Amino acid sequence: MTDTVRVNTLPLAIVIAVCFILQFVVDSGLRNNWLGRRDLTSLLDPVAHFSLAVLVLLPWASAFNVSWKNLLIGLATSVMIDLDHFVAAGSLSLNDAITLSARPIAHSILFSIFASVGLGCLFRSRTLVWVVLVVLISHISRDASGGGTTPLFWPADFVMRIPPVVHLGFWLMVSVSGLWVNSTRERDSAQVL
Ligand SMILES: [Zn+2]
Repeated sequence: MTDTVRVNTLPLAIVIAVCFILQFVVDSGLRNNWLGRRDLTSLLDPVAHFSLAVLVLLPWASAFNVSWKNLLIGLATSVMIDLDHFVAAGSLSLNDAITLSARPIAHSILFSIFASVGLGCLFRSRTLVWVVLVVLISHISRDASGGGTTPLFWPADFVMRIPPVVHLGFWLMVSVSGLWVNSTRERDSAQVL
């Protein structure tokens, strides 16, 4: 395996399709409480966040030769951000974490910017700043398109709910644009060889 992400367009398109479908599958699972207990069913949510991050990030990571390390750190943050629920609840109980009156302030655009710059400095990578920022913004976009309050514009208390079709449509467009850029780069490098 090389250091940088290179995925051909066809497998990439298949991964994107699977990740897109997973968004609907998980939403259905959450709505219908598939695992019978709200706290257990909420464990499906990280699957949707992780697959959304793959959907958004993988085509661009492949098109611009992002390192596997940066990609994996970015994907990890798509799930790690939700640990803020436990911090805000002051408890390790899953039930306490999912019954807060609103999502914690780490679910804000401002925090996403600070966190991405912080991780970029920590790992001395400018690329990582963009990778993490895109992942965190897509995460809070999904949360703001679902139930509960997401403090997108913290410290302002203006609350906005994003219609699910706008959320999914936007990120699918970002993903497909990356797929297109990746395919043109793949063609260019094939011509050079
Ligand atoms: Zn979240």
